[in-house]
Amino acid sequence: MKLQETLLNTAETKNGHEKEEIESIGDEHVSTSKETPLRSDAFDLTDEEKIQKIEHHFTEIMKTMGMDLNDDSLKGTPHRVAKMYIKEIFEGLNPENKPLIKLFENKYKYGEMLVEKNITVNSHCEHHFVPITGKAHVAYISNGHVIGLSKINRIVRYYSKRPQVQERLTEQIAEALKNILKTEDVAVVIDAHHMCVSMRGIEDKDCSTITSHFSGDFKKNDTLRNEFLRYTS
Ligand SMILES: [Zn+2]
Repeated sequence: MKLQETLLNTAETKNGHEKEEIESIGDEHVSTSKETPLRSDAFDLTDEEKIQKIEHHFTEIMKTMGMDLNDDSLKGTPHRVAKMYIKEIFEGLNPENKPLIKLFENKYKYGEMLVEKNITVNSHCEHHFVPITGKAHVAYISNGHVIGLSKINRIVRYYSKRPQVQERLTEQIAEALKNILKTEDVAVVIDAHHMCVSMRGIEDKDCSTITSHFSGDFKKNDTLRNEFLRYTS
């Protein structure tokens, strides 16, 4: 009896610690991997099947919160939320929605950095599912290839449309650009507001979070990096 009690207590404490650790990962906004953690069956269901399933579960969430879904204003909400998750704000989870990027030859032989700044970032914190909004500044130096300017915005948008952690978003954009442009000379800076910091928890409305990724010449060459930072600040 005693032994069993001890075992139970140990198990409870262990679960308590695990829960505490999981909660603190969320509150400190720590990311655990560069890749978005996806299940192996992530795309077994069609979008329509996912929407139906989320609609069902969101109905339960609203009912549990005590909301009356017979009300005209509320009855369409579970379907709207489900559709918005799959077709809009989290569509970047599905590789089928990855933008197709065409490479062009760098005909002008432009050898300086190309900077695309103030790109809108509309993402969601994966710990609280509330918005992260801000700006991304991106630069690269051509290695013989260039891409259409709006394609940089499309890459930022694609990776933003996932439940995210800002550090991972920064890395994913940088890695995508390096792969597409076949160069290491890439810089990404994101300056963003987290609703989970401004409207809950510490409730600080004015602070923003800055993350960066510098590689190739942007990492090695201080003058180059400072030039980029001067253009974007
Ligand atoms: Zn958060």
